[in-house]
Amino acid sequence: MTARVRRVVTTRAGGRSRGHHGTFNLSAGVGDDPAAVAANRARAARELGVPIVYLQQVHGTRVEVVDAVPAADGPDRPAADAVVTALPGVGLAVLAADCVPVLLADRAAGVVGAAHAGRVGAAAGVLPAVVEAMTALGARPGGIEVLLGPAVCGRCYEVPAAMCAEVDAALPGSATRTRAGTPGLDLRAGLYHQLVDLGVGRVGADPRCTVEDRDLYSHRRATAAGTAPTGRQAAITWLDPG
Ligand SMILES: [Zn+2]
Repeated sequence: MTARVRRVVTTRAGGRSRGHHGTFNLSAGVGDDPAAVAANRARAARELGVPIVYLQQVHGTRVEVVDAVPAADGPDRPAADAVVTALPGVGLAVLAADCVPVLLADRAAGVVGAAHAGRVGAAAGVLPAVVEAMTALGARPGGIEVLLGPAVCGRCYEVPAAMCAEVDAALPGSATRTRAGTPGLDLRAGLYHQLVDLGVGRVGADPRCTVEDRDLYSHRRATAAGTAPTGRQAAITWLDPG
């Protein structure tokens, strides 16, 4: 039997956070009012109908394995940038505001995963780590479908030339040119090539650029405007308990 997989990407709209965090910030780590974050998370869980696991993301490659249904308001899982489960009815969330949120699923095996792939974590190999963890739960790389979520695009993501070369060496295909003609990074392009090399069955992308789309949180846009720290949107996936 093939599992039904659900995927949601949140925006800035619909929450209780104020000011630079307004309004649907889902991160507990960006200086927002904890009561507002708790209210926003409660709304997300209520609307989606599943408890949601959040991570304390550290730009690393550790994968959290969820093998028991979590409490609705349990603590964030420490020091992990990816999470996997074979349990239906458990939402897996990753938070981002320019980094790439990545949702993965093998419907036939009934295994889902989520990963936070910013410049550092992507180059360090968080996606090979999450695919390996899904395989350990019974997924086949060829059966995995991936969604690369909204992130800063290559035309907006200017970096020093040396950093561009360094990231492209670890994540080939990510080097590009910005709108201004300077060295840039297109992390989603690099992650796409990496996923193809891993033998993943299908890769799609939500093409929105977080810097350009004001419905989304963007760390770079907020920093340029002097309004950092800003909030984080979430990409969430789960196996429908049906
Ligand atoms: Zn852009």
